[in-house]
Amino acid sequence: MSSLTIRSLRKSYGSLEVLRGIDLEAETGEFVALVGPSGCGKSTLLAMIAGLESVTAGEIRIGGRLVNAVAPKDRDIAMVFQSYALYPTMTVRENITFGMESRGVPRAQQDEAVARVAALLQIEPLLRRKPGQLSGGQRQRVAMGRALVRDPKLFLFDEPLSNLDAKLRVDMRTEIKKLHHRVGKTTVYVTHDQVEAMTLASRIAVMHQGSVQQFDEPQTIYDRPANMFVAGFMGSPS
Ligand code: ADP
Ligand code: MG
Repeated sequence: MSSLTIRSLRKSYGSLEVLRGIDLEAETGEFVALVGPSGCGKSTLLAMIAGLESVTAGEIRIGGRLVNAVAPKDRDIAMVFQSYALYPTMTVRENITFGMESRGVPRAQQDEAVARVAALLQIEPLLRRKPGQLSGGQRQRVAMGRALVRDPKLFLFDEPLSNLDAKLRVDMRTEIKKLHHRVGKTTVYVTHDQVEAMTLASRIAVMHQGSVQQFDEPQTIYDRPANMFVAGFMGSPS
């Protein structure tokens, strides 16, 4: 069953058409990458899946359920942004458990959840620190921990590595891949980096000016690009 199904999705801001009829899906446990140049509508699409932007037309289904009008907090998703937006005055542990307290999650269950994600992300030694005492890569790991701890149906990443230096990006890419193998969560991952998409995703949607130009497995996109734009963007041999 598809975890995420998007049909004929449109978004306009006044007379500006940002998404022009998007069709996309992710099977349960699948890792789908959205790639395309800056301004093509990737973040808008992700924000609509998250419920942070309204739907102009079309359908978004998560786990079969139509969520067009469902509030973000009721969509069973977790999102990791480019800027990690950790709370600077809270410890890593508090950042990870933020929101659990108000949802009435018992302390023992919080501890168990923190232990699980901290082990998974290898951030146990960092739990008492504040974000200001962490490196960029460590902060990104904490941001992922905060998303993971909620055990959502769907993971959304918006260019999570673009603030990191080149070496760290490659390391984190490997970690994200390993993490996905272990956790097996349905993931939609936005990046403008073709190599990142080729390495991580089982299918890639290549976007250009508000449309998906091709949605296919990485090798197929590389070997048989649907058009000149896809060939150029993915660097396929011509
Ligand atoms: P990407 O993430 O691929 O770089 P975005 O989804 O951020 O692209 O933006 C797609 C287009 O939508 C851009 O032209 C951008 O200027 C426009 N856009 C995004 N958000 C808004 C908004 N709130 N109001 C008007 N235009 C917007
Ligand atoms: Mg963006």
